[in-house]
Amino acid sequence: MMATGINIGSVMTRGVISVKKSDTVAEAAKLMKRARIGGVPVVERGDVIGIVTEGDIMRDIVATGKKHDVKVGRIMKHPVRTVPPDIDVEDAAKIMRDLEIERLPVVSGKRLMGMITMMDLVRIEPALLELMKERGSLEMVPTTEKAVSIAGECENCSNYSVFLRNIDGRLLCEDCREL
Ligand SMILES: [Zn+2]
Repeated sequence: MMATGINIGSVMTRGVISVKKSDTVAEAAKLMKRARIGGVPVVERGDVIGIVTEGDIMRDIVATGKKHDVKVGRIMKHPVRTVPPDIDVEDAAKIMRDLEIERLPVVSGKRLMGMITMMDLVRIEPALLELMKERGSLEMVPTTEKAVSIAGECENCSNYSVFLRNIDGRLLCEDCREL
């Protein structure tokens, strides 16, 4: 297959939910359920340091009977595979297929810029579905990220913030929300 010519930066979800190492697994699980996503990046001062997925929670907490007050930092996957925004959609799809993961944080340096999931890619380029079928089942989780704590550039001042909120359709940082 040829490269699609579409880069991840143009199709990623911007303003993504993230959690901190010190958040509990229960909080992370609730956040994912509410946002109907299967995994969230773990962020420290804007840098991606790990990822925690529903699968991790099921395996590490439910299966072993650990308590839900376990901190995200103890069960997150790290280091985490990330991609830069300028990578081709097909290359991102191959990374996900080869690592058998469903989502990738998109970073500039280590800074969280967005998220991309396999479902996003298949929607954008249905031909990629064939590539995905070469491995096991697809996780059909829609990414309707109505965020609580979201990371990205403020649409008013352009500063980077991990605490953007959606105010009347614009993602605003803490400072701009108060104006
Ligand atoms: Zn701002």
